[in-house]
Parts: sequence; C-alpha cells; structure tokens
Amino acid sequence: MRRAYKYRLFTNANQERELDAMLETHRRLYNSCLAQRKERYEAEKVTVKYTEQSARFKVERSTNPYYARLNFSSAQATMRRLDKAFANFFRRIKAKETPGYPRFKARDRFHSIEFPAHGNGIRLTGNRLRVQHVGTIRVKLHRPVEGTIKTVTLKREVDRWYVVVSCDLGDVQVEPSNKPPVGIDVGIESFLTTSEGVQEPNPRYLKNALPDLRRKQRSVSRKQKGGKNRRKAVKKVARVHARVRNLRREHHHQVALRLVRRHGVIAAESLNIRGMLGNRRLARAISDVAWGNFLLTLRSKAESAGVAFVEVDPRGTSQECSGCGRVVRKALGQRWHSCECGCSLHRDHNAARNVLARCLARTGPVGVKVGVG
Ligand SMILES: [Zn+2]
Repeated sequence: MRRAYKYRLFTNANQERELDAMLETHRRLYNSCLAQRKERYEAEKVTVKYTEQSARFKVERSTNPYYARLNFSSAQATMRRLDKAFANFFRRIKAKETPGYPRFKARDRFHSIEFPAHGNGIRLTGNRLRVQHVGTIRVKLHRPVEGTIKTVTLKREVDRWYVVVSCDLGDVQVEPSNKPPVGIDVGIESFLTTSEGVQEPNPRYLKNALPDLRRKQRSVSRKQKGGKNRRKAVKKVARVHARVRNLRREHHHQVALRLVRRHGVIAAESLNIRGMLGNRRLARAISDVAWGNFLLTLRSKAESAGVAFVEVDPRGTSQECSGCGRVVRKALGQRWHSCECGCSLHRDHNAARNVLARCLARTGPVGVKVGVG
C-alpha cells in the first residue's frame, strides 16, 4: 500500500532561488519537448517518442548549462509527464471524445518536480532534505514518515515550497475486529452522518475565509493590469486559497482518523457510482469533489490501520426505510424520515443505516475477516 506525506520546507533565500530556477528549467524542458512533438507531427505526421526525447536531452545536456544542472532522472520524469499527457490525448481521441491538445505550460501552471527514486538526486534524512545542486533544506516534519520512501516530489504552492514523499507501507492485513461497524452518509447539511446517528458538522474554514478572500479579490481589481502591485495582490488571493485547501485536507484527516479508531468496518457509498449519477448543480459538484477526496483519505487511513473499508451502491439509500425496507419517497428538502413501521429519524441517519445494512449483507456478521475495498 502506498501513502503520501507532504511537508513544508524552510528554505533560505539562496535555496529558494535555486529551486525556482530548477522549476523553471523543468518547465522549459517540458515546453521544448512539446514544441518538438508538435513540429514533427505537423511537418511529417510523425509521433516523437519519449525515448527519443530522453536521448536528445542527454546530448543537449553537454552544451546547455541549465539542463546540466537538472538531475537526470527527474528530467526524465518531466518528459514522461508530457508523454502521459499525449497518451491521454490519443486515448480520448480513440474513445471518440474531443480532447484538447496538450498545452504549453505557463509559469503559473507548472508547480512540481518529480524524483522517481529516493536517493537519486534527493534524500530525506530525519528533518533534513538533501537536494542535488540546492543543498540541505530543513523540513517541518509535523508527522513521522512511515514505510519506505519510493518517490519524492518538490512542489511550489504560491511562494512556498513543499516536499511530498510517497511511501510503500507493504501489505496491510485486515484484522478481525471487536469494534463496531459503521455506515456513513456524506451530505450537505452536515459533513457526514454515521449509522449511529452521530453528525459531523460542516467545517467553517471556507465561510471564515470568505470575507478575507473578497477583500483581497477587490484589491486585485483595483490594481492596474500587468503591474507589479497587481501581481502581488494576486499572490495574496492565491495564498488564501492554498490555506483553505490545507485546512480542508487537515479536517479530512482528523475526521477519518476518528472513524478509523472507533470502528472495525467502515461502509461508505461507492465513489464510482456517485460519479456516474452525475450532477449539474455547481455547489453540489464542488462539495462532491471535497467528499470524493474525503472518502479517498478515509479509505487509505482504513487500509493502513487494517480496518475494512467497504464500498456500497448508494442508490436509493435515502428513500429506503432502514427499519422495514419500504420505499418512503421524500423530496431533497425533506430532512426527516418517518415510516408507517414506526421508524422515525433524520434523513441522513436513515441513509447511513442503509449503507451499513448493505455492507453487512455482503460481508456477513461483524468480526469476520472481509476484503478491503
Ligand atoms: Zn419502515
């Protein structure tokens, strides 16, 4: 099983300059490889392969001092990224979709440098990150790294640098557990509701950040286009967005951790099916993304703790009565479920109980070993 850890880097001015330059060289490499593919295709209808571009880079390195300062494997990773973009492009053409041609990356669209192998050009030892051509950078190690580090990515968010390490935690077995199983329903009114009727409130970070965000956005519109002050103001807006993103991720981790500690089996709606149902309302679509991320976090936390994570088909869970199985129709605004059988509870609580029932129908009684996923 893989897990990624992200840490803030404490860079000094010199290291920041080196990292910025490195990122810029990677971006230029990406764009130059894209240009080469485009030209060759337009002139000769030939698709340039990754291996050809990697070989060309190797030659150019001896004359291009910027290229010479890139770690070879990480440069290959950037070229593979472009290769993947093309593979996706061709796959979508084949599937009769209308994909956009891979695009040149502007400065604000290129944020990361990948190192495919830990120890090759980059190494994390304790809270020290050694980066080839940059030096040793101090890392804010807010939680320890577990498992074996496989790949390392340097990432710039607005004007801060982070390192993301992807670790192999080995095979994790699901242990029979005496802890109670739980079903969860993610919603709009509360962030989630469990089959035990516990409601997790919606976090306030976005709402709290909104006044600040609006003020900073207004400040952008007052500044002259193309000016230095406008660029500074845009940066301030981006920083608020980054803060909200980080708070959201932290919230997801905390809620997931609480569930994993308390329960032996966790049942949730299947993400694939939810995606298939489709949704045209923007607000819903945005929160769907957040839920999707949360369920992914929950799954990975459950897996690494040896807790079974079972995905069930969510269709009809809100309409079905969790007491007797009868279908009780309700509009979206109707928040209470009450059935002739005497079952009367919150709509989301009812749905969570159905999610759990569907899981148990598949896995059998609790405590029996079940597969993950
Ligand atoms: Zn009923």
